[in-house]
Amino acid sequence: MATIFSKIINKEIPADIVFESETILAFKDINPKAPVHVLIIPKIEIPKVTDLKASEHSLLLGDMIDAANKIANDMGIAEEGFRLVFNCGDNGGQEVYHLHLHLLGGRKMNWPPG
Ligand code: AMP
Repeated sequence: MATIFSKIINKEIPADIVFESETILAFKDINPKAPVHVLIIPKIEIPKVTDLKASEHSLLLGDMIDAANKIANDMGIAEEGFRLVFNCGDNGGQEVYHLHLHLLGGRKMNWPPG
């Protein structure tokens, strides 16, 4: 099912886009939880992590990690470190059911997460 992220992919609503490729879009989170908070999403509609299959989506997942590393480098947080998060389902805290990888950095992260 289409979510607000489909509208961002289709440029129907604006977003602060930091990276785009044939398969991936990355944009700044509208409600950032850290000085750097970017969402990395596939352009195809995959609702959540449990819909992924390594046999089918390994290239896409690789593209998402490559994008995260590039953005972390571009934003100057690669050296000091950062966190990558997939929230999955209600207990995971997922609000938007279009797969997205959170890239968080620019401050020390807490562990365990809330
Ligand atoms: P999650 O809770 O893992 O589903 O994360 C969804 C994230 O999407 C939240 O951090 C929201 O702040 C973010 N978000 C929702 N709508 C927008 C939007 N229009 N542009 C950018 N980020 C958004």
